[in-house]
Amino acid sequence: MKLSRILSIPVFSVIFVVGFVYYVTIFIFIEDCFGLNSLEGSRNAMIFTFFAFLLLFSFFVCVLTDPGGVPSGFVPDVEESLLSNQENKNSRVYQRHCDKCSAHKPPRAHHCRVCRRCILRMDHHCVWINNCVGHRNYKSFVVLVFYATIASGYSLIMILNCALQKDLDFSGKMPLKIFYITCGLMILGLTLTLGTLLSWHIYLISRNMTTIEYYDGKRAAWLAKKSGLSCHHPFDVGALKNVTLVLGPNILKWFWPTAVSHIKDGLSFPTARDNS
Ligand SMILES: [Zn+2]
Ligand SMILES: [Zn+2]
Repeated sequence: MKLSRILSIPVFSVIFVVGFVYYVTIFIFIEDCFGLNSLEGSRNAMIFTFFAFLLLFSFFVCVLTDPGGVPSGFVPDVEESLLSNQENKNSRVYQRHCDKCSAHKPPRAHHCRVCRRCILRMDHHCVWINNCVGHRNYKSFVVLVFYATIASGYSLIMILNCALQKDLDFSGKMPLKIFYITCGLMILGLTLTLGTLLSWHIYLISRNMTTIEYYDGKRAAWLAKKSGLSCHHPFDVGALKNVTLVLGPNILKWFWPTAVSHIKDGLSFPTARDNS
């Protein structure tokens, strides 16, 4: 755990934005719309506080969790290496040696120029968490985006509810009207951005793919098409198994208990090793 990761301007900016959205939602919009002493007001304030707490908790987990480095002295499996090189000579997915670290690296690991080391199953380096998103903190990153989308959407609903209750009539209070419109547009933009990011990662999870692998795959598909070949992402084993491999079997148990028993045989195939 590296507490020093918190000491960065982007991390403080995220904390400031969360604090600002929390303050205006609870103490301005919910207070103005329902009144915090009313049953509906206190219920909405509690629900929003709950999501804001989960959002901040998963944010700090993302910041403080090591994304997963390559163990020192890692040596690739020779048989696997030969097979991979024969099948995927042009694919960066199977590049096994990092020149910068002067060390072997496993499949799906990539060198991060910011962290100055190789990261297992690296997705991208995120400035907002001042950390890489990799093997060990990818799940908490997706959970963070999920709660952030819900909290932002909830705040937007509160603003709209409040504005509609006032019938968009602020009785000549122009500064208040401008404040409502500015906050509404800002939180609308935030909700759309977070919703797009969440949709993107749901797509990647359903394909068992990282952001880096997506762009590498596009390049590999273009090269394969030029040679008259087809290109298939090697870790894609079907949407349900992919979700289980990336997020763990418990995620499906919550939504679809019988799904885990359907796919339990699939949990022992080779690609599971990269996510264990
Ligand atoms: Zn490296
Ligand atoms: Zn990094």
